[in-house]
Amino acid sequence: MSFDILDRFGDPQLCRNVLDTLARELDGELRFMEVCGTHTVSIFQSGLRSLLPEGIVHLSGPGCPVCVTHESEVNAFLDLAGKDGVILTTFGDLMRVPGDNGRNLKKAQADGARVRVVYSPFDTLKLARENPDDLVVFIGVGFETTAPTIAGTMKMARQEGIRNLRILCFHKTVPTALDALLSDQDIALDGFILPGHVSAVIGVEPYRFIPQTFGKSAVVAGFEPLDILEALLRMVEWRKRGEARVDNTYTRIVSEHGNSRAMDVMYEVFEPCDALWRGLGLIPGSGLEIRDGWVEFDAKREFDIVIEEGPALPGCKCGEILKGVKRPDQCPLFGKACTPANPVGPCMVSTEGSCAAYYKYKVD
Ligand code: SF4
Repeated sequence: MSFDILDRFGDPQLCRNVLDTLARELDGELRFMEVCGTHTVSIFQSGLRSLLPEGIVHLSGPGCPVCVTHESEVNAFLDLAGKDGVILTTFGDLMRVPGDNGRNLKKAQADGARVRVVYSPFDTLKLARENPDDLVVFIGVGFETTAPTIAGTMKMARQEGIRNLRILCFHKTVPTALDALLSDQDIALDGFILPGHVSAVIGVEPYRFIPQTFGKSAVVAGFEPLDILEALLRMVEWRKRGEARVDNTYTRIVSEHGNSRAMDVMYEVFEPCDALWRGLGLIPGSGLEIRDGWVEFDAKREFDIVIEEGPALPGCKCGEILKGVKRPDQCPLFGKACTPANPVGPCMVSTEGSCAAYYKYKVD
């Protein structure tokens, strides 16, 4: 695909035309939630949020992997930082996520803990080879997008006979979270813009329950302004006809059944488990844990880590923001005690977090 074609997905006149059609076709109010941090940023960065017709209400959901990582999971990896013989590895976006007592990985690193930022889980193999007397522990957070590469890293480690790599697996799966959101009577939603990256792996089929069980609509969308507008237009048109459906407007990347090789690798190594989500609490079957056949990589079992509900960060409303029941600017700390330079909660740390996007683009 040429970049010229991609440029057209941001064509201002085409966007204006779709916005006009949306305003014409909209019947009542449409409350939609995006569940992908990249969509959050795209909607703010492109200015779409302020251009949408008044009756289209945008909510950000639990699509930022750093943001949904539960407080207890954050404290668990912070407890590992600085342990003798442990080199903790992570993607950079976890470095400033706060745990209890103002702890974070960056401070732990400054205090001498061996914490390394990696760009790919495969980088941990090199670290493990170079440090045979240490345990290299990778913090696995995120969704179906990252889990297959971590599973692939474990397979390569086993093939090579690397014995000092561990994975602290806090992975979560998106469809189960959407089910939990739709089951929550306090959350008023008409439809979802579904995550393009996750859907590239899992496909469209796992979302079919959304209209069937809940009578709501959902559209898999790409990340350009026209991708998002097209998804909204479909939901508006279905609603006008009294229909609820699932569709895929990101067909240049996403197929009905996703990437079967990635899914096979992921489920060869991981299996579903119950998981705690920040804000959403315990969702049965919404996490991934390492299968018994791969136990030699499991950092939770190695260090007896048990994740349980604990106190939330004082004053932080990230939980309510991730459920779409509060906007970032309704948090009393927003822009005062909590800023990107001095974040109190993960939604202000991550570049894909709603609070950071609100702050950066000075919305509303
Ligand atoms: Fe949490 Fe800060 Fe967002 Fe408030 S503004 S919800 S404290 S991250």
